[in-house]
Amino acid sequence: MPQTNPSGTIVQALEDDIEDVQKLLLLKAMSQYVPNDQHKAITSQPREKLANDGYKTWRRYLDNLSYLCDFKSGGKTVVSLYAQDAANDTVFWLATNHPGGETKNRMRNHLVFILNELSSTPRSIDDPTQAIMQQSIKLSADKVKHYYNKLVAELESIRAESPSSQTSGDRRIPEIVMDKLQRATGDDELQNHHMLCSAACEIVSSSGYNRIAELSVPPGSRYKKVKHYLIRLCSWYTASRYVTKYWGMFAEELRGATVEIVSLDQFHQTTNVNFPPNVRDALLWILGSQQQPFASALQQKLTPAGALLKTEGGRARGSIIHAEAALAEFVHFHEMEPLYEDRYVGCSKQSCYGCKIYLSKHPGGFEQRPSHGNAWFKWYPPRLREQPDDRETSSLLRRMAMVMQADLKDTLLGSNLGKRQLFESTSGVGTTIRHMQEALRLNKES
Ligand SMILES: [Zn+2]
Repeated sequence: MPQTNPSGTIVQALEDDIEDVQKLLLLKAMSQYVPNDQHKAITSQPREKLANDGYKTWRRYLDNLSYLCDFKSGGKTVVSLYAQDAANDTVFWLATNHPGGETKNRMRNHLVFILNELSSTPRSIDDPTQAIMQQSIKLSADKVKHYYNKLVAELESIRAESPSSQTSGDRRIPEIVMDKLQRATGDDELQNHHMLCSAACEIVSSSGYNRIAELSVPPGSRYKKVKHYLIRLCSWYTASRYVTKYWGMFAEELRGATVEIVSLDQFHQTTNVNFPPNVRDALLWILGSQQQPFASALQQKLTPAGALLKTEGGRARGSIIHAEAALAEFVHFHEMEPLYEDRYVGCSKQSCYGCKIYLSKHPGGFEQRPSHGNAWFKWYPPRLREQPDDRETSSLLRRMAMVMQADLKDTLLGSNLGKRQLFESTSGVGTTIRHMQEALRLNKES
């Protein structure tokens, strides 16, 4: 119930708004577990405010710089970058979801190293590329090892499963790839990460790679992962070469730039959420306790999401503030003008569903980022401690909820289950779930 105390009301409303977004994100995540579901891809269209090539290169430049400073796999050290046009200087603001202070310093120092390499006396493109790549790989040793182990596991599985119907040429592919990689690393497993990455680049640029690409096309092919990890192993070379190749375009503004860390300690802590342990309880939490006629049909449809809830649900889980969302909020609050007047927040990874919608609805007018469209339901809105009240966050969360509701409209109304709709399709849309539940209740009472 909303409290009568004005400040209490704001806090109460914000918590409700956060919970609404978490519910919608969970529903989206659950629907993404259903094979061939319509919610696999984001339905809202990206804004194309500044789609010229100059900006495209600059945005990729920021993303590549971010990537080179992201040292661990699995989203543990996501790095986000914003370039501020500060009087006579450029300042890079770096945010990461990684809590460790030492890692943050290493990220900052690495970006300073990259900028120094790029600023040094012009040499051939290969010199800075090699220097940046070698140092980046050294700092990302765990990530290289992770990709290598995954790649070897896939190749071994292919070799074990290889059907006798395959041509002898195709049967030999896993062996040839492993041989090339192992020869590059030497006997001592992974003493030489740099050579390993170079070997992967050689494989990808060889003519034999075309066959791997062909074999990766059929759905469920293990070669899809082989291709993925080979390209991952080349990623340091690709990113290093990109930042070297296009340095000339941005050198004037970036030479002598400073790098500052945005600590996530400046934001309100996230809360732990008890995510429901099964589909039935999840739907009860999301849709409310009213007996909706479509609930059992929806539960059946979302059965595949049971696996997700089994691993993630049933116990308190800490929410996570994502680096790019936090950085956007930070630079907006401090009114930092972007370099080249381009309000783009770079990131080492593609953005998730929550961040994409967050950035698109943020009052800072940020440019859209590449997104994989997957919903992480532990997503949490960044709220600066020094922000005097949370009304802006509340209103932003409501705008996000509206986008997600429009995206999930059919699921929320049960109208994609082959049943008659509860009420006309316009009534729940454009309000938060809470309002929708009120509408449902009124509908039932009337
Ligand atoms: Zn995100």
